[in-house]
Amino acid sequence: MTNPYQMQVIGYIESPYKQKFAIPRQPGLIPEATGKLKLQAPYASETMIRGIEAFSHLWLVFVFHETADKGWSPMVRPPRLGGNTRKGVFATRATFRPNPLGLSVVKLDGVEIHNGAVTLLISGIDLLDGTPILDIKPYLPYSDALADARGGFADAAPETSMTVEFSAAAEQFCRQQSAYPKLQQLIEKVLKQDPRPPYKKQRESEQTYGMTLYNFNIKWTVNGEHNYVTEIIKLSELAGCQ
Ligand code: SAM
Repeated sequence: MTNPYQMQVIGYIESPYKQKFAIPRQPGLIPEATGKLKLQAPYASETMIRGIEAFSHLWLVFVFHETADKGWSPMVRPPRLGGNTRKGVFATRATFRPNPLGLSVVKLDGVEIHNGAVTLLISGIDLLDGTPILDIKPYLPYSDALADARGGFADAAPETSMTVEFSAAAEQFCRQQSAYPKLQQLIEKVLKQDPRPPYKKQRESEQTYGMTLYNFNIKWTVNGEHNYVTEIIKLSELAGCQ
């Protein structure tokens, strides 16, 4: 049978998250994660978003584009359960689904319209840079916020007892990035939620890790529950060194 449902990408996400590693598991966990949704023609139209500023939050329907070609599984192992317990894919928000569609509620911070370009400024995102967006819908508190809903194995936001400390050099680096005033808070909150895969969390000796946020390479060590940010380097400077 042919599939009559053709979807169009209406825009793309610009995000500080340049790799899957370090992205929170759901939106809203890190309000400092700001991004942009850049609408593309023919949907980059002021008329198509008229009235949107009246809503504080939006639902974004998107494609898990980074993993879409990796297929799907009927059962998955949610990291939330330590990566060992299997659940049916439709009982999870996993990326490896029959249709690789994601759904995130994000805060709408503003709208920019400039020379035909239409951009929504959003925050609290859990989206990789370059994520294709298929649809936008306003969040309706009277219907979407359900006080008596049960959350199964993910009934509350993940708890964290991780601590984060910055070296003097890393702290100074953050202070100097006037274009990214919340960089240090963003790094701190990303590390507090412990982005390491479950099997790495069991290691006892001190380990060094790296991640990319915006155009910055961040290096830190983990000792028990303590993260220590050792250095931050601009990627353009790294490239210049080679
Ligand atoms: N809130 C969405 C949902 O419920 O459909 C996403 C939940 S999914 C568990 C969150 C993970 O998706 C993030 O931690 C990140 O690793 C991954 N992710 C985000 N954007 C992606 C993309 N464009 N392609 C593949 N994976 C992505």
